[in-house]
Amino acid sequence: MNHEGLLSKINTWALELGFSQVGISDVDLSEAEGHLQDWIAKGFHGQMDFMHKHGSMRTHPEELVEDTVRIISLRFDYSYKTTIPYEDVLKQPSKAAISRYAMGRDYHKLIRRKLKTLSEKIKTEVKDFNYRVFTDSAPVMEKAIAEKAGLGWIGKHSNLLNSKAGSYFFLGEIYTNIPLPISKKSTFHCGTCTKCIDICPTQAIVDPFQVDARRCISYLTIEHKGPIPKEFHKAIGNRIYGCDDCQMVCPWNKFATDSKVTDFLPRNQFDEPDLQELMTWDEVTFLKKTEGSPIRRIGFESWQRNLKIALNNQL
Ligand code: SF4
Repeated sequence: MNHEGLLSKINTWALELGFSQVGISDVDLSEAEGHLQDWIAKGFHGQMDFMHKHGSMRTHPEELVEDTVRIISLRFDYSYKTTIPYEDVLKQPSKAAISRYAMGRDYHKLIRRKLKTLSEKIKTEVKDFNYRVFTDSAPVMEKAIAEKAGLGWIGKHSNLLNSKAGSYFFLGEIYTNIPLPISKKSTFHCGTCTKCIDICPTQAIVDPFQVDARRCISYLTIEHKGPIPKEFHKAIGNRIYGCDDCQMVCPWNKFATDSKVTDFLPRNQFDEPDLQELMTWDEVTFLKKTEGSPIRRIGFESWQRNLKIALNNQL
């Protein structure tokens, strides 16, 4: 089968599996490499040492997986119109705001399994198809790859944006040795808009495309270990896991489309949970209630740390 024909089949299979879009990138990430090095040199990665500890593997896919010449990049929508709007939750100090992506099932395993299923289907057509799948799980420049693969552009808040789907989607990648036809890189459509920069509660977007993670509420409530610096407590408000403010105000998110699966629907009323009630959970309850949820990854200590800040902000 020729590569055009194979790509058409990959598209069909991916949509059947619940993905929303497929694109193909080559492995030249030199532009993104400069941006990454500059960001790390400024210390904007905070405690995220994994951003540099893999050396050049992150920006050289062929070093991570030998013989890689193309990356199949895929989008998977995770939002639902039925979910209580994030902006409504932010206005209620007695409720806790959780980032939309984290309210349902942990995406890592689910997307990974779907990527593997898709890869196995490809393998039935192309015997010498070698591959490795990723979803937010290894040194992979997901957003830069997706942008090259035509899935969207990197917005001024540094998330990927799609003109037909906004930004509420996960990304997945299949590194492969098959020289599939390369997609056209997405063009930039933020224009003169600065809504995400203006809304950020902690002014973490210090310049367009430059997020200082050390100020970002998503980083502080999820990645950061230990006490959160006092200067950010007030601005955190009732956000106990992540922050969606920059996505919430983005005009392109009026085009966000419903996920094709129900896995990411809110569990335990995570779209509008009661702060006091969450505080009554002991560690056993926390582990039980967050089973299969990405929230579990932060552990009980950070969970309680975040809740205490939010509860304090009620006073
Ligand atoms: S809010 Fe405006 S500047 Fe920010 S990502 Fe969306 S379109 Fe771009």
